[in-house]
Amino acid sequence: MAPFPAVVFDLDGTLTVPGTTRPAPGVVALVEALRARGVDLAVATSASTAVARRVLDDLGVLRCFGSVAGRGVDGGFGGKEAVVGEALLGLGVTAAAPGTPMLGDSPVDLHAALAHDLVPVGVGWGGAPAEALRAAGARVVLEHPDELWALGAS
Ligand SMILES: [Mg+2]
Repeated sequence: MAPFPAVVFDLDGTLTVPGTTRPAPGVVALVEALRARGVDLAVATSASTAVARRVLDDLGVLRCFGSVAGRGVDGGFGGKEAVVGEALLGLGVTAAAPGTPMLGDSPVDLHAALAHDLVPVGVGWGGAPAEALRAAGARVVLEHPDELWALGAS
């Protein structure tokens, strides 16, 4: 059985080192391992969808993601909450199954997660202080991607 129904990721500062297109340590292995266990994966980003797909492709994990949602070609962006909704639609659901985490490095990510009844998971490698992430509702703040497994059903 898959350890999570699905996992939603922010991109910059969560999958990548903040402000770069380099992978954050351990995240590529996490993404590949989740996918290998049948977990549906989505990205919700304020970057353009095209750029996000390019970054994921360069990381070698684009094929792992069933849904990549970001800013449209017209530059329109309805906020993180809207883009998370779009990311879920891309997985074929209008509401996430209970126990679906969303990982993000910003309070904005955690607010969006809560708005969609996702489990808000902060990541400590994006630059925002863990305290700020907890204050924004993070149930946990990961110091390393592998710590996500502890939240799932084994
Ligand atoms: Mg971010």
